[in-house]
Amino acid sequence: MSAAERLIRYCKIDTQSDPKSATSPSTQKQFDLAEVLAEELRELGLEDVYLDEYCNVYAHMPANQDKSGKTIGFIAHMDTSPDYNGANVNPRIISAYDGKDIELGEGVVTRIKDFPKMSEHAGHDLMVTDGSSLLGADDKAGIAAIMEALVYWKEHPEEAHCRIAVAFTPDEEIGRGTEHFDLQRFDAAFAYTMDGGDIRTITDETFNAAEAIVTFRGFSIHPGSAKNKLVSAVNLAMEYHALLPEHMRPEHTEGKEGYIHVTEIRGTTESAVMEYILRDHDRQKLEDKIELMNRAASWINARYGEGSCNVEIIRGYRNMKEILNNYPEVMGLAEKALLEMGLQPVSEGARGGTDGANLSFMGLPCPNLGAGGGNAHGRYEFCDLWELEQSSILIRKIAEKMAGGEY
Ligand SMILES: [Zn+2]
Repeated sequence: MSAAERLIRYCKIDTQSDPKSATSPSTQKQFDLAEVLAEELRELGLEDVYLDEYCNVYAHMPANQDKSGKTIGFIAHMDTSPDYNGANVNPRIISAYDGKDIELGEGVVTRIKDFPKMSEHAGHDLMVTDGSSLLGADDKAGIAAIMEALVYWKEHPEEAHCRIAVAFTPDEEIGRGTEHFDLQRFDAAFAYTMDGGDIRTITDETFNAAEAIVTFRGFSIHPGSAKNKLVSAVNLAMEYHALLPEHMRPEHTEGKEGYIHVTEIRGTTESAVMEYILRDHDRQKLEDKIELMNRAASWINARYGEGSCNVEIIRGYRNMKEILNNYPEVMGLAEKALLEMGLQPVSEGARGGTDGANLSFMGLPCPNLGAGGGNAHGRYEFCDLWELEQSSILIRKIAEKMAGGEY
């Protein structure tokens, strides 16, 4: 089975996660893929293959010729995004992509003007959807890359590698991928999530995240006799929102610029609630954004009375660079491996979080590497099959360098 065939097999299994579910995993159907993967790992002869009740799959491959005595982990997530249909995925391969618009089907076209980076994949074989679903290369490409490396090692015992830990996890897309991750069972010195796009990109940074729930209290009275009495909570909410700088909205930010993004508004004259997410790579700048939210609330309260506006801050994941800075060799190993493959490494900050960020703070340093997918979470999703192949070579190179004592 080629990496592409493997990817098609995984993509056809619906594993969509559900943010509204309170169970772990959030959807039972993620077990459909977990069971297939556990079986494949057993067939490959991996040790202590284990599928737990939370739908985490673990396994180990012993070292063959190793000077390091250490274990490197590789992790990919099994679920697909709840943002778009993940059922009846019908992948198709375009051989030697011509770099132009792609007719996906059902009148859906991937246009270069909407996705200008697509043309960079010209000449490569691409896997695409039929226009009715997402593909699921996020992150089944990561799973396929890891499996492909394991198969290679089994068939080529002459290639040195250190001890390998593998984990496939559920519910990454709803931010719960590491909720029940068992670090002891995984038993690795450090790991890489294989959950990125471009194969040259090593992600060693994430945002710092916070959520703000802003509540407004109004004073409701019949509008016919409301003069100088009525206070509309909806108006307070709009006034509050207008106090926040427009240039901090996500649609005006990129690169290392953080943002304040309103995700929900609901309300009546009596009460209103606005929900925001705040993001910044720089921890102090995130604190500054929180301060801005609080100052806007003070302004509303000064004008309409104490208790008119209340801000509740819920802190989320943190930038993993804080941790990874203490382990330069983890990044170094991946960089050296890429260079040996003739690829120029690019280190990039993710404009989001990763499971690796949580794992890094749990004690397992874990940057993210590319697996070849693109345009994730929708029907324009694709996988560059050359990059998928390179991703699996990258895994092997990293393990080979570790075995050679380069850690
Ligand atoms: Zn992903």
